[in-house]
Formats: sequence, C-alpha cells, structure tokens
Amino acid sequence: MSGKNTMQEVNEFFDSAASYLNLSAGIRELLKRPWRELKVSLPVKMDSGDIRVFSGYRIQHNASRGPYKGGIRYHPDADMDEVGGLASLMTWKTALVDIPFGGAKGGIQCDPSELTISELNRLTRRYTNSVGHLIGVNRDIPAPDLGTNSQTMAWIMDAYGQINGHTPGIVTGKPVSLGGSVGRDSATGRGVVYIMDQTAQNLEINIKNATVVIQGAGQVGMWTAQLAFENGYRVIAISDVNGGIYCSNGLNILDLKEHMSTNHSVIGFPGSETVTNKDILELSCDFLVPAAIDRVINESNVDRIKARVIIEAANHPITTEADSLLLAKGVTIIPDILANAGGVIVSYFEWTQNLYQHQWPEERVAAELERIIMGAYKSVIKLSKDENLSYRLAAYIIGINKVVEASELRGFLNG
Ligand code: NAD
Repeated sequence: MSGKNTMQEVNEFFDSAASYLNLSAGIRELLKRPWRELKVSLPVKMDSGDIRVFSGYRIQHNASRGPYKGGIRYHPDADMDEVGGLASLMTWKTALVDIPFGGAKGGIQCDPSELTISELNRLTRRYTNSVGHLIGVNRDIPAPDLGTNSQTMAWIMDAYGQINGHTPGIVTGKPVSLGGSVGRDSATGRGVVYIMDQTAQNLEINIKNATVVIQGAGQVGMWTAQLAFENGYRVIAISDVNGGIYCSNGLNILDLKEHMSTNHSVIGFPGSETVTNKDILELSCDFLVPAAIDRVINESNVDRIKARVIIEAANHPITTEADSLLLAKGVTIIPDILANAGGVIVSYFEWTQNLYQHQWPEERVAAELERIIMGAYKSVIKLSKDENLSYRLAAYIIGINKVVEASELRGFLNG
C-alpha cells in the first residue's frame, strides 16, 4: 500500500473538490485542519491485576454547522491520523445530508476481542472521564463505530451522568431502553440498501438476479445483508475478522444470524464454502459492500476487483489510487459520506428525541431516514451528471460548499 495515511487520503479527495470550487489556500487550510485534537493515556487495571495503559483520541474536526458528531472506534490501528481522517469525513457527511452537526471521531488503540467485559467497561469509563470536558449535548456527541456498540454507549452515558447528571443526549446509538432510538441499530445498513435499490434501478440491474458480496458481518454488514436478503438480492458471500463464507445460490441470512448467535462467526455456516477476506473482495458480483475496515481496496488488489458497483458502507475502504483506477475501469462507486450516512442521520433523530424526551415509532424513523438519504443521493447524482464528475467528487463538493457557507456566515472568513 502507499505510504499515505487516512488523513492524507481524505484530504486528497477534499483537495479535488476544493479545486473544483476554487477555494483559496487559506480556506482550504481552515477546512482541512481539525479544530481540536486530544490524545489521552488510559491506565486500566486488567482482570489479572496488571496495569495496562491504552492510547485514546478525540478529534473535533469542524463545528461550523453544529455540535461535533462522530463515532468512537476500538481498533489496534486507531491513531491520530486515522481518527483525524475519519473526523474529517464526518464533517463532509453531516453537511452533505444536511443535518445540523459538525464532524468528529474518537478511538482507543486496542483489540476489543482480547478484553473482557469488565475490562472494556473500565476502559470506556476511563476514556469518558478523560474526554468528558470536551463532549456535551451541545458540544460533541459520540456514537458507536468499529469495535463499539450500544453497550459501550450505555457505559459512556453512565460515566458522564455520574459527573453531569442524567444526560441521555450525550451519546447516540444507546440501547432503546436507555433512550436510544428504535431503528438506530439497523440505520446504516438500511441506508445502504435504500441506495442499493435505487442504484439497481438506475443501472437497470434486476434485484432478483443481483448478487451482493459483503466484507464485515458487524452492525453495518449484517443489517445490510439482512435487508438486502429480505428485498430479494442474492447475498453470495460475507465475512468477519476470521474469514468469509460463499454460496453461489445465495446465503439465507436469517439462518446465518441464528448460526452467528451460537458460533459468534460466519465461519462453518452449513452449505457454504470458506473464502478468505482477501478473496472475498475479488469475487464477481453486482454489488460489493465493504463494511469492515479502511483501505481494503488498494493498489495491491484493485486490478482484480470485479464488482460492477461498490457501495462504501465502511469509512474510507478504497484508497485514492484505487479509486482513480476503479473509476477508469467504469466501476460505479457510491462514496462513504453518502452510502453510510444512515447511521448519523438516525443518530440525529435519537439526539432530537432525547432533547424533547420523546420516542418516535419505527415507521417514522425509516420514512425520515429514506427521505433524507435519498434526497442527498439525488443531489449527488444530479451534480455528477450535470458536471460529469464522479459521485465522490460531487458528494464532497456539496458537503464542502455547505461548510464554506456556514464559515462565511459565522464570520470566520472575514474576521
Ligand atoms: P462492527 O465492529 O460492528 O463490525 C465490524 C465487522 O468487521 C465485524 O464483523 C468484524 O469481525 C469485521 N472485521 C474486523 N476487522 C476485520 C478485518 N481486518 N477484515 C475483515 N473483517 C473485519 O463495526 P460496524 O459498526 O459495523 O462498522 C463497520 C464499518 O462501518 C466501519 O468502517 C465504520 O466506520 C463504518 N460505519 C459504521 C456506522 C455505524 O452506525 N456503526 C456508521 C457509519 C459507518
């Protein structure tokens, strides 16, 4: 892979859009730089009695359109550059779908699969106490991401509440019984499948014959798989960190969920063949959905990618070099800031419900999610067609333009 990190690559995408918009060097600098970056050391007493010190991050990229918003990732690769790049993506994503948030991201460098529940609980509380002065219902609202889930959010809410009083709106993606929104767990996958349906229609792909391959069987990947399966797509392969499974006739995703509830992995699902995480990306299919980690499609495998459409459910799964090569080959790419925006859109609904202590029914969540994400999708398709741009470039242009406008109105550009 190239020596570039996530932050540098996201900034390359940003620069292409900034050039189209003729932004000056000063404005580019203002928009690229995170407003605030925090790195903390997190000592945790392990169950063995030993002390381990973890590194934690919260990067607040831009809040010109509203409070910072972004997930917290628990992963061995989480560092300033990765978290910073992901924070910047959040700024363009919230602007593109026009919800009143800025962009942020957090992370702890750890492998959560190696930690016990009580160690994760202590680590999460230590992290919350260490970043607690920067977050707040009107300042910065974390959410789940890779390696974290609704339980993690419940611990954050509890730790924050011990100091600040009961504050459910401090995080989104909470359990519904603690003020979470119905439909938040499925939201990112639901958004992906709304986009898949419309793209199939635009490209005249018959859903009933369409094949789908998904890398990642977590919150985003499994919901994408289930909703695609229920809509009639043939989900032929899916993987988790241990490897993948393949069945040319299509996998029954409801049975797979049963299998996973006892086996905690897709591996060994009856009637499937195993496939590696490397090979799964190279399968022939109509829709390839990376839904795990960053930069999995890069110069080492881009020549062997055979998908007709790639929907970026994960954040930054395609490197800048691979992106150009795929576009040249005619692959349709739905960029992350559009494709996976369903999560932050329903997080916005959850935050709103918490502010006025109300609960929306699931139909309302799904209907408003569809309205917002498909509105953004249409605006991206239109700009892309009108100006002959890739969907990614069009999406960045729309998002960046809104942040520039907010910056101007607030006086950052003439103060
Ligand atoms: P998750 O932790 O619930 O699931 C991640 C899945 O990826 C698991 O199946 C895991 O086994 C697998 N995985 C981990 N490392 C892997 C590797 N090296 N190779 C292959 N598979 C691997 O995470 P998630 O919340 O589903 O997030 C997945 C992606 O979607 C991330 O890029 C995240 O930033 C993005 N995303 C998540 C949300 C959300 O609402 N959770 C919203 C927008 C974007």
